[in-house]
Amino acid sequence: MSTARQYIDPDDVSWQPEGACADMPLEQFVPDEETAEGLTTAAATCDTCPVRQPCLMWATLHGAEGYWGGTSTYQRAQLVRVRTRAKCPLCTSTSLTMVGTHEMCVACGASWVRDVRLEPLAATPAPSAVA
Ligand code: SF4
Ligand SMILES: [Zn+2]
Repeated sequence: MSTARQYIDPDDVSWQPEGACADMPLEQFVPDEETAEGLTTAAATCDTCPVRQPCLMWATLHGAEGYWGGTSTYQRAQLVRVRTRAKCPLCTSTSLTMVGTHEMCVACGASWVRDVRLEPLAATPAPSAVA
């Protein structure tokens, strides 16, 4: 896996016409009320979508509501919380790995910033002998 940093344009929506949901009713993806059943139905389409990654990033960056990139509004809120997790908040897999400052789910590829505050502090260097 490449560890090269990717820069994305938060205002880039050129991926939208390629979405598997492009010709589907908006209410199916942005409902008045989000439910587990609604998420399952929407995610079945997202699972086949060629632009799932930019869709998820866009929705996360913009605080969008509804089902984007196969996730609910609540799940995206969980993803952006800075913390170290025992399970993936999307697929609940416990197969997690660390990639730089992020944790990544090996099962579904979701990643989030991990909470480095929970890591042991580095040993304090010995004081310099210089006065
Ligand atoms: S990932 Fe889902 S919500 Fe996003 S464009 Fe694709 S089908 Fe639509
Ligand atoms: Zn996962």
